[in-house]
Amino acid sequence: MQDLSKISVIKDLLTRYGFTFSKALGQNFLINPSVCPRMAEQGGAAPGVGVIEIGTGIGVLTKELAARAQKVVCIEIDSRLLPILEETLDEFDNITIVNQAVLKVDLHQLIQREFSGMDVVVCANLPYYITSPILMYLLEARLPIRSITVMVQKEAAVRITAQPGTREVGAISLAVRYYSRPQILFPVSRGSFMPAPDVDSCVIRLDILPQPAVAVKDEATFFQVVKGALSQRRKTLVNTLSGSLSLSKGQVQQLLDRLEISPTARGEELTLEQFGQIADAIYALKQI
Ligand code: SAM
Repeated sequence: MQDLSKISVIKDLLTRYGFTFSKALGQNFLINPSVCPRMAEQGGAAPGVGVIEIGTGIGVLTKELAARAQKVVCIEIDSRLLPILEETLDEFDNITIVNQAVLKVDLHQLIQREFSGMDVVVCANLPYYITSPILMYLLEARLPIRSITVMVQKEAAVRITAQPGTREVGAISLAVRYYSRPQILFPVSRGSFMPAPDVDSCVIRLDILPQPAVAVKDEATFFQVVKGALSQRRKTLVNTLSGSLSLSKGQVQQLLDRLEISPTARGEELTLEQFGQIADAIYALKQI
């Protein structure tokens, strides 16, 4: 059995298959042998569980997932990796590779087709250039999945898991908390990858909530309010919300007064519930 986290094994594979890393596709492969077993364990790979992996590389995490889970479906965009994976994953009969860009895959259909009767989790070392679009795609689709365990850039991990009401919070933090309970599992240094990226990383897990963290009348308005309030961090709510939601400053001021929220507050100071209240009030206003 090949040790796919060993540099000599990776170099041998790259030479034999004439493979070169694509920076544009975020190809930094894991070479730290302790990371993938931890990710697979803490990501919930176990008997009776189906795992979706995004971006296989040469299969170093895939192997750990397949050794623990009932089935693994990998979505990998780079067809140059397919012959390598045929060799490195040869010993497993519970892995399916989908050679497609993840954002183009109908994941509801995939789950129905591949994971009948199984609990489903996502576990992946994400390509960093599309971390947020992938997370939002997974969350907004309301997939029947238990959790999403992913390696992301350290700064992204801090932002994604930030608590509302803190300086680190951004629109993505609120969106993530609307759908899930996020936590940082463990840090991973840049030296754990080949080639080494310029940044450190973290593994995070998002445990999907059975229903959204706040009940709102209209989700589109809720996300418009979140984006609007957090797009210009130094501006007050009256300024950001009137600009982004085409309301007069007076209307926003009145609405905030009614909710007993200071009009000079900034988006980063609000709780998720307050965002929900503002969104409901704006939605009601726009129905008149
Ligand atoms: N899992 C491997 C590991 O840990 O060594 C590789 C991780 S590497 C950071 C990211 C992987 O995602 C690469 O294999 C890359 O080709 C793949 N990838 C990049 N963009 C993708 C996309 N849009 N859809 C699916 N896979 C993608």
